[in-house]
Amino acid sequence: MARVALVTGGSRGIGASISLALKAAGYKVAANYAGNDEAAERFKAETGIPVYKWSVADYDACVAGIARVEADLGPVDVLVNNAGITRDAMFHKMTPQQWKEVIDTNLTGVFNMTHPLWSGMRDRKFGRVITISSINGQKGQAGQANYSASKAGDIGFTKALAQEGARAGITVNVICPGYIATEMVKAIDEKVLNERIIPQIPVGRLGEPEEIGRCVVFLASDDAGFITGSTISANGGQYFA
Ligand code: NDP
Repeated sequence: MARVALVTGGSRGIGASISLALKAAGYKVAANYAGNDEAAERFKAETGIPVYKWSVADYDACVAGIARVEADLGPVDVLVNNAGITRDAMFHKMTPQQWKEVIDTNLTGVFNMTHPLWSGMRDRKFGRVITISSINGQKGQAGQANYSASKAGDIGFTKALAQEGARAGITVNVICPGYIATEMVKAIDEKVLNERIIPQIPVGRLGEPEEIGRCVVFLASDDAGFITGSTISANGGQYFA
């Protein structure tokens, strides 16, 4: 029987590549998203992957959304916490709202999604929780105190939960991408990309979203059963943690 994978923020950017990679690997995939109906409907039409709208920042909405996914596809075996936002500002200009929105989505959202699924994974003695953090959660980034804190929190969450899940057959891991060629990154001025960003990356190029998708497929597989609590740095050699 095909395993079921749920990808938050799974209809765009890195999340879309993760959803597609899991589908190609034989999983039944559900892609959650927050509000961009047009992108989600296009993704669904192009890929056949069902899309489900709710905010990961809302616990009750996560419980209800997961129930819809499980009614349609069956119990979730693989959770990919990919949904994430930025609200960048230098700290002296950062508003409490910018802080809260980022923490609510990137960190509390990971709790909100993992918590309702945890008991079922424990009962079934199998689970995979894979969270997409960021290089900036490892090294910190000026202008991103909120984002860096949320993404560092995801790493701590992973290390703690891995210890709790180990005996129940649940692995919990985190991937920290560096610069990935999503629409957002590709929209950066070409001169800035070529003269300032790419020279910081030892392999000399941006990462591709598909490369993150393939990391997820590996961590989700039975072959990765001995890997838990790990942080995979997928950043072209830009930072070692
Ligand atoms: P995008 O902005 O392209 O896509 C974000 C996705 O998350 C969208 O599908 C969006 O939904 C969804 N989302 C946002 N907020 C919520 C919410 N509250 N509830 C549910 N879904 C939500 O992001 P990227 O693909 O660039 O990034 C994906 C992840 O990778 C993020 O966690 C990001 O922090 C991380 N990352 C990205 C890097 C990069 O270079 N791009 C580098 C390092 C880490 P909708 O489509 O409805 O808006």
